[in-house]
Amino acid sequence: MSKKITDLTGTFKLHNGVEMPYLGLGTYMPKDRYEVTNSVRLALENGYRHIDTAGIYRNENDVRMGIEASNVPRKDIFLTTKVWNSDHGYDKTINAFERSLGNLQMDYVDLYLVHWPVVGLYKDTWRALEDLYKQGRVRAIGVCNFLKHQLEDLMEDAEVVPMVNQMEFHPYLVQQELINFCNQNNIQYQAWSPLMQGKVFELPEFQKLSEKYNKSIAQVILRYDLQKGVITIPKSCKEERIIANADIFDFEISESDMNFIDAMDRNFRTGPNPDNFEWSVVL
Ligand code: NDP
Repeated sequence: MSKKITDLTGTFKLHNGVEMPYLGLGTYMPKDRYEVTNSVRLALENGYRHIDTAGIYRNENDVRMGIEASNVPRKDIFLTTKVWNSDHGYDKTINAFERSLGNLQMDYVDLYLVHWPVVGLYKDTWRALEDLYKQGRVRAIGVCNFLKHQLEDLMEDAEVVPMVNQMEFHPYLVQQELINFCNQNNIQYQAWSPLMQGKVFELPEFQKLSEKYNKSIAQVILRYDLQKGVITIPKSCKEERIIANADIFDFEISESDMNFIDAMDRNFRTGPNPDNFEWSVVL
């Protein structure tokens, strides 16, 4: 069943009723901290209401400064952050959450995510997220990078089914089976690296679609995400791109072109495979 797509203020409803804006801004840009603050401000000033960060990005302070500079009220913003691999386990997760809130100078976040499924620890981590959720300190909880078997394992003992699974997702990595599983379990699918970290612009298939719809390659791909019911968070630090990436509400991709894009899938990852990620890595 397709979800309704309207404009940049539009949301998909999570299974606990929380409305999550379906287009947001990614902030993973390790080179320049000023760019984070600036891009968050620019995005909010241009109508975005959803910002994605993480403890490991070490930019929660910069995100906060961008929010403050935008003058958009906190209550109007959907803010996500994540617990990193070295902070797994019940107590460490609670501490990591407090640290994030300190960096953000906020008393809640909208969505708190487990960043990667660290083997042997993610169930304890999840209990901490469930407690934070029950205490009302986060409006929703979820995971990133959980494959079907990891979700099944987590849900075996979970009291709260994750509301979101944030995964690498783009035309070369669709993982339709996983999307179906998430849909069946009311877990909202979310895309990270929707533009393949910039590599989509080299894909020859998209030139024609871009001409056909008179839209840029990025716009066609981001529209594809929304029509698939996938929440998407392209990162850009350039104002014209931040604006253009949100100019995707005046056209619709046909069903046959949606199928054509789906068929490009080649299980190609720009990032690690959740089954063999090097868990000791600390960025
Ligand atoms: P994206 O797929 O969003 O691609 C970002 C790259 O595309 C940047 O180089 C950007 O350059 C460029 N770009 C953006 N818009 C355009 C445009 N319209 N035309 C041309 N180039 C463009 O990659 P990310 O890896 O950043 O993913 C998005 C977000 O997902 C992250 O920022 C982060 O918040 C999250 N994430 C989550 C992960 C997880 O494990 N949960 C893992 C990785 C990312 P420029 O800035 O110069 O415009």
